[in-house]
Amino acid sequence: MVQIAWLRCPDCDGKFYVEKPQLGKDANWFCPFCKRTVKESEVNEIV
Ligand SMILES: [Zn+2]
Repeated sequence: MVQIAWLRCPDCDGKFYVEKPQLGKDANWFCPFCKRTVKESEVNEIV
């Protein structure tokens, strides 16, 4: 089972999750709430 990490969007404060192995690659994430692309360096991991 893949572990997940919860991220917080810097714009709308929405929480969404990504698969942990995807982290650390300086990837871009898509916020499902405000439809914004956020860079990994901008999000806050909360778990
Ligand atoms: Zn957002």
